[in-house]
Amino acid sequence: MDTLRSIEQIISPPAPHMVGDGFRVHNIFPHGLGENLARMSPFFLLDYNALMEWPPREHPRGVGVHPHRGFETVSFAYKGRIAHHDSAGNSGVIDEGDVQWMTAGSGVLHKEYHEQEYSRKGGLFQMVQLWVNLPAKFKMTPPKYQAITAKDWGIYSDEGVTVRVLAGDFKGVKGPASTFTPIQIYQAELSKNRSLSLQLPGNSNTGMLVIKGTLKANGAQVPTDHFVVFSNDGEIIMLESDDDAIALILSGEPIQDPIFSYGPFVMNTREEIIKAYEDYNNGLFGYLED
Ligand code: MN
Repeated sequence: MDTLRSIEQIISPPAPHMVGDGFRVHNIFPHGLGENLARMSPFFLLDYNALMEWPPREHPRGVGVHPHRGFETVSFAYKGRIAHHDSAGNSGVIDEGDVQWMTAGSGVLHKEYHEQEYSRKGGLFQMVQLWVNLPAKFKMTPPKYQAITAKDWGIYSDEGVTVRVLAGDFKGVKGPASTFTPIQIYQAELSKNRSLSLQLPGNSNTGMLVIKGTLKANGAQVPTDHFVVFSNDGEIIMLESDDDAIALILSGEPIQDPIFSYGPFVMNTREEIIKAYEDYNNGLFGYLED
């Protein structure tokens, strides 16, 4: 099926809110999708810190200790650097081009801050945090980390077009991330006046965030910081660039389980949310110093 997907919606970045004091994010979805929790499944949430500049600060801004259960957080740094720590003893720095793929699974405590040296100097900051849902049978999988650096991504290049592959594959180039359900995540980079055609399974929910520049997607103009939701009525996405442009492309097979979410937990039922709070309050998520 080599039909062009039609454009279902182009989401303008919703009004930003602060996560802690270090992340000024636009909740592209579910908020920008009218709180439709399943439309982008297996992707549940996309918080986008659009390009901005932080003034220098000695004490790093960020978000303190908080729990997660039932899904994965995937953090992308485009500009600036983020440091993280968790209750399983993992820590690290997400540098520009890196991705931290954290499977919260049965439960983890973590904290996320601007990295100390970045914070001292201040400067440009741009990042994405994506929540990838887990199928019911994997919600209580043990927590794990995949620290994926910029050089680990699969790379496909063709005259002015680069497709960096984080998950899944593109024309035989595989991404390093291991996933629980079929997912493709690409970063497409086009120089001025280039085009790129992508074929993604018609049953996979597919969207694209423009990180830099403006792209035409299947004929529709998509400005910087906007997110396109493609209909599931075809397989092909055709991108055209008027100028240098970068986009994050997400595509995944929907998870059919019911979704019951509250705060930092994404589960299947109300009872599982209550249990998550009980377990958290009883210290079963471990300990992490504030
Ligand atoms: Mn978090």
